[in-house]
Amino acid sequence: MMRKLETKTIVVASHNQGKIREIAELIGPFGFSAKSAAELKFEEPDETGTTFEENAAIKALASARASGLPALSDDSGIVIDALDGAPGVYTANWAERADGSRDFQMAMEKVEAELQKRGAASPEARRCRFVSVLCLAWPDGHVEQFRGEIEGTVVWPPRGTAGFGYDPIFQPEGHDRTFGEMTSDEKHGWKPGDAHALSHRARAFKRFVETCLEA
Ligand code: IMP
Repeated sequence: MMRKLETKTIVVASHNQGKIREIAELIGPFGFSAKSAAELKFEEPDETGTTFEENAAIKALASARASGLPALSDDSGIVIDALDGAPGVYTANWAERADGSRDFQMAMEKVEAELQKRGAASPEARRCRFVSVLCLAWPDGHVEQFRGEIEGTVVWPPRGTAGFGYDPIFQPEGHDRTFGEMTSDEKHGWKPGDAHALSHRARAFKRFVETCLEA
């Protein structure tokens, strides 16, 4: 049975500042009071799943159990056809340095090096999509999940300084700017009541709103 969200206090089950900011922007108009797992100093659980859905559930359930409140997580990544779907669920890992810090310039260079190795030069050969799975979990273990995807191409060199992660090399289909060149509002491409959203996260969020918030 699908479950609605009855409380206005939730935890955003993330330690990623880029995601926390975007989820706060999306949820803002709905009047929630949302603290992040980072602010609450919750430990980051190991993402041992092999799908976005499994990892999203691991993160949301960990925060729901630690807080006693409903928790909303996001597991996301970039899926590149020419790389057989890599980096996929390992998108964050590709940015990891030996000391545990994250370097997305390095990660984007790695993506470009892998595409060049395979001779992927044309926009068609560089097809990819961003995927976001949002998971809302309750302390009793109930979960609701919402997937959003946006098709695009990997561009090189990176363009723009907005957003986070791989945004400067992702150009969504039908657009001539990368996510790194868009304002946050343009990247979401959605506000409450709109029929369509642009980013993977906003598309998943729209489904969350329709399922868990609206009557
Ligand atoms: P995880 O979901 O925490 O395992 O990490 C997902 C990774 O995918 C993030 O660290 C980002 O690098 C990347 N990613 C997910 N969504 C976006 C986005 O909207 N823009 C740019 N990079 C993203």
